[in-house]
Amino acid sequence: MKYLLLFIVVIVGLMLHKKRRAAEEQLPQDRRRAQRLSPPEPMHACTRCGVHVPASRCVWDAQRRPYCCAEHARQG
Ligand SMILES: [Zn+2]
Repeated sequence: MKYLLLFIVVIVGLMLHKKRRAAEEQLPQDRRRAQRLSPPEPMHACTRCGVHVPASRCVWDAQRRPYCCAEHARQG
């Protein structure tokens, strides 16, 4: 009976140790995934229609006003 109790304690201890190691290995992987995502990009409202467009996809006029497309930039 004494050995059965000792066996159960050892098994539970090994399971907890394994679970903790798995959680530690998971953490750096989540950080790597977060780093792969690109940083947020500022949005600008089109001067003509008000549609919000990412800064990299805006069409800018001479006065540096953002537009959603070349058509709206031309119409002003
Ligand atoms: Zn527009």
